[in-house]
Amino acid sequence: MSSQFFENHSCEYFPCHEMPELNCLFCYCPLYHFTDCPGDYRLLDNGIKDCSHCIFPHQPEHYSVIIRQLGGTF
Ligand code: SF4
Repeated sequence: MSSQFFENHSCEYFPCHEMPELNCLFCYCPLYHFTDCPGDYRLLDNGIKDCSHCIFPHQPEHYSVIIRQLGGTF
């Protein structure tokens, strides 16, 4: 386990996506309120952002991209 990656095998939804390594750190994506997030989302008819098929925040190599978009450094 590190501060940049962990898998929560005790979560009842794990694995929420089928992928080789699944980072649970950003389970609730911190980029949700960005309209220019780099993820794969669609807008529902009611304007709600649907991220259910996006794996971007769970891919370990995207940690630094997310931190940068939040305005931080890593
Ligand atoms: S599309 Fe992906 S990266 Fe963008 S807010 Fe949704 S879960 Fe986050």
